[in-house]
Amino acid sequence: MKPDASGGGEFPELVGGESISRSTVPGGGARLWQGLDKQRRDRGIPVLFDTAAERLIQDPFSKEIIGVVARQGNVQVYVKARKAVALCTGGFEWDEEMKMNHLRAYPSWFYTNPNNTGEGIRMGQAVGGDLWHMNSLSARAIPYHPDWPKGFGVVTRQPFIIVNKLGKRFFYETQWPSHSAWLEFVHFSTRDSAYLSTPAYIIYDETTRKPLIGGPGTKGRLGDSDTVQNWSVQGMTQWSADHSVEVAKGWIFKGATPEELGEQLKAEPENQGLMDPATLKETFAKYSQYVANGVDPEFNRPPSTLVKLETPPFYAVKIYPGGPNTQGGLKKDAKSRVIDPFGKPIPRLYCVGENGSVYGFLYPTGGGNVCEFVIFGQVAGKNMAAEPSLA
Ligand SMILES: Cc1cc2nc3c(=O)[nH]c(=O)nc-3n(C[C@H](O)[C@H](O)[C@H](O)COP(=O)(O)OP(=O)(O)OC[C@H]3O[C@@H](n4cnc5c(N)ncnc54)[C@H](O)[C@@H]3O)c2cc1C
Repeated sequence: MKPDASGGGEFPELVGGESISRSTVPGGGARLWQGLDKQRRDRGIPVLFDTAAERLIQDPFSKEIIGVVARQGNVQVYVKARKAVALCTGGFEWDEEMKMNHLRAYPSWFYTNPNNTGEGIRMGQAVGGDLWHMNSLSARAIPYHPDWPKGFGVVTRQPFIIVNKLGKRFFYETQWPSHSAWLEFVHFSTRDSAYLSTPAYIIYDETTRKPLIGGPGTKGRLGDSDTVQNWSVQGMTQWSADHSVEVAKGWIFKGATPEELGEQLKAEPENQGLMDPATLKETFAKYSQYVANGVDPEFNRPPSTLVKLETPPFYAVKIYPGGPNTQGGLKKDAKSRVIDPFGKPIPRLYCVGENGSVYGFLYPTGGGNVCEFVIFGQVAGKNMAAEPSLA
C-alpha cells in the first residue's frame, strides 16, 4: 500500500526515493509567478501577447536557430534572436492526434492551458530535435464532459469505489500516488477490444452526495478534493442540490440500485456495452463484505477507507486518465540545449518546462514540474546569455 506521499516523494520505496523532500512557500504558485514576473518587469523585458510562434528560422548553412516566425491575428511577424531561442511552449494536452499517438490510453483529458497544443514540439522537430518522455504524464483520473471546456477535480471523500467498464474494482482506489495514478487506468483488454478503465466510473451513494450540496466555495461537493481545488468546477459553477441538473446533462449517472446504475452505465456509448449490471451488484456485495470484515483481500485498500456504500440512490461519474500535464517533448542536454537524435545540440536552440521535461516513467513528487522550469529556466538563461551575439 502506498504511504501518504505528502511531504515527500511519491515512491519512497524506489532507489533514491527517500532523498526527496517537499515543502511549500506562503502564497504558493501565484507568489512564485509574481516574483518571476517582477524580475521581468524590472529588467524591461517585453512580452508579445496574442502572438503564436509557428516556425523556427534556421540558418541553412550553420544550422543555427536565429529567430521565430509568429502570427498576430492575420499578421505574420518575424522575431530575430539576439543570441538564441528557448521553446517554453508547454506540453500537448490539447492536441488529440499527439495524445492518440503517444499516450498509453485514449482518450485523456486535462485542465491545463488550452494553448498547449504541442506546437513548440513540432517546431523543434522540424529543425531536427529529438523527442523524449512522450508517453509520460503527471496525471491521475479526472471527470470530463464535452459541455465543460476542461477536465475538472474529482471527489475523494468517502464512501466511494471505482469500477471499470465491466463493473469490477481494479485497484485500491484511495491514497493513490497523486501524479502517477493514471497508470492504473490504462489496461487494454485484447479480448474485449477496449481500454477497460478508460473511462472508469467513480461510484458513490446518497451519504456521499448529501454533504456535496452547497454554493461556490462550499467544501464537499463533487469536484472538491484535497489536491484539486481552484481549477475544478467548484467556484465556477454550482452543482444542483439533488444532482438532477447534472444527471439530466449526462455528467452524473443515477440509479436506485446497483443494477439500475449498471444498466445506465451499460447504455452510455463509451462503455461499449461491457457493463454487466449483475457484476456491478456483485462488486457492491463484495465491497460490503470487506467493509464488514475491515479487510480488502483483493486490493488491500486501507481499513480506514473501507466505508459502507449502501444508501440509495447510487451515483456514478466517468473518470479518465488525465489532470495536470504531459511531460514529453524535445530532448535536452544538461545545458538545456535541444539535441538531435544523435545527441548533438542544435545550435542556439533551448527548451524549458513541459516541452521535454526531465520526467520519464514516474513523476517523483508534487512540485516537480515547477522545479523543472525554475531550474532549467536558469540553466538555459545562463547558457543562452553566454552565446556569442548574432550579427
Ligand atoms: C491546474 C494545474 C496545477 C498544477 N500544479 C502543480 C504543482 O502544484 N506543482 C508543480 O510542480 N506543477 C504543477 N502543475 C504543472 C506545472 O504547472 C506545469 O508543468 C508548468 O507550469 C509548465 O510550465 P511551462 O512553462 O513549461 O508551460 P506552461 O505553464 O503550460 O506555459 C506554456 C505557455 O506557452 C504558450 N504557448 C503554447 N504554444 C505557443 C506558441 N506556439 N506560441 C506562443 N506561446 C505558446 C501557452 O499559451 C502557455 O502560456 C500544475 C498544472 C496544472 C494545469
